[in-house]
Amino acid sequence: MARMSDCLFCKIIAGQVPASIVYQDETLVVIKDINPQAPLHVLIIPRTHIPTLNDLSPADDALVGTMFRRAAALAKESGYHERGYRTVFNTSREAGQSVFHIHLHLLAGRALTWPPG
Ligand code: 5GP
Ligand code: ZN
Repeated sequence: MARMSDCLFCKIIAGQVPASIVYQDETLVVIKDINPQAPLHVLIIPRTHIPTLNDLSPADDALVGTMFRRAAALAKESGYHERGYRTVFNTSREAGQSVFHIHLHLLAGRALTWPPG
C-alpha cells in the first residue's frame, strides 16, 4: 500500500518527523511513545501503511505475528518479560485510536490495572 502523505507514522518512518527509534528492520520501526504511560512504552509500527485492524487482509497475518514477537523480544531485552507487560492495539473511536496507521503499544514497568479505562 502506498505511503500516506498525511500520516504521522509514515512521516516518522520516512525520517520527515523526528522520533526516538529503539529498533528497526525491513518490516518494522519501533519508537518511544512521546507521552509514555509506563516506564517502558514503545510503539511497534509496520513500515506498510494500514489504517486500522479492520483493514488487515490474510496477507498481513505474518506481519501481525512479527509485531507481537518483536514486542515479546523487546520486553525480554528490557527485563520485563517475567514481571509482565501489556500489548495493545487501539482500534477506532471508542478505543481511542488517534493515529490511523496500525501500531502495537508495548507497556511495562508498573502494575497495569484491569479493566483498562
Ligand atoms: P493510539 O491512541 O492511536 O492508540 O496511539 C497513538 C500514540 O502515538 C499515542 O500513545 C501518542 O502518545 C503517540 N504519539 C502521538 N504523536 C506522536 C509523535 O509525534 N511521536 C511519538 N513518538 N509518539 C506520538
Ligand atoms: Zn501511515
